[in-house]
Amino acid sequence: MTHHALPAALSLALLLPAGAGIAAEPPLPQLEAYTVHESWRQPIAPVKIADNTWHIGTANLSAILVKTPAGAVLVDGGMPQAADMLLRHMADLGVAPEDLRLILLSQAHADHVGPLAELRRRTGARVAANAESAVLLARGGSDDIHFGDAITYPPVQVDRLLLDHEVVELGGMRFTVHFMPGHTPGSMAWTWTDHEGGRPVRIAYADSLSAPGYRLVDNPRYPRIVEDYRRSFDVVRALPCDVLLTPHPGSSGRNYAEPATSRPMGCVEYADASERSLEQQLQAEREGGRR
Ligand SMILES: [Zn+2]
Repeated sequence: MTHHALPAALSLALLLPAGAGIAAEPPLPQLEAYTVHESWRQPIAPVKIADNTWHIGTANLSAILVKTPAGAVLVDGGMPQAADMLLRHMADLGVAPEDLRLILLSQAHADHVGPLAELRRRTGARVAANAESAVLLARGGSDDIHFGDAITYPPVQVDRLLLDHEVVELGGMRFTVHFMPGHTPGSMAWTWTDHEGGRPVRIAYADSLSAPGYRLVDNPRYPRIVEDYRRSFDVVRALPCDVLLTPHPGSSGRNYAEPATSRPMGCVEYADASERSLEQQLQAEREGGRR
């Protein structure tokens, strides 16, 4: 399965702080580690999304398990402490550790990929991601453009590097990656088709489109950040999307802890709402403030 394992020299190069030996940009004021909300840790029982697709994460952090005849696929894992909970939820769904064959992700931030190194080790599953995410994963989230070393996690080895719109397949289930840079330079969406009640269901797992405290104007480490976000809003609007899932379920209207209050958004509504929020934030920053 390993197409493009990273050569040692490249792995080493990834671990070097950005700009080693080159006059680095003056360090940006680093953002504080973001607040870990209680709902990110709140355990809930697995939630069925479609015939083979389950939410096995916490109340407000996604970890999506997809079962296929050839083994299972996990998309994101949540916080670094989540490995035992995820393996327990997988066992509850009849998936043994060695049945997990593939690990995919949305963004290389600690609150989504925290347990992936441990899961890869304990299951033998292979990790597939794009190069931008592989760089941050190999550094365990350190030297993040916005957070510096404030949110780190055990470094994750990527076993397969992906290009935009590549398909990763397991047991007849085809997962298509869609690059949507912005929240992180390597942000990815994933789409696949499951079934429910005998009908095909097109599932879209789209990354965060928030910019928590990010510098949007003249950011020397990410000069085209706004252009990337604007392009990614269009990427999300165009996804094949009967059901939208997001790394923070709450950001697309889902509330697994109180299902009665859930108002799941579609991909267009999610992109439109995120775009309005980013443009307001941009305006505020231009007028001298940062949110
Ligand atoms: Zn993030």
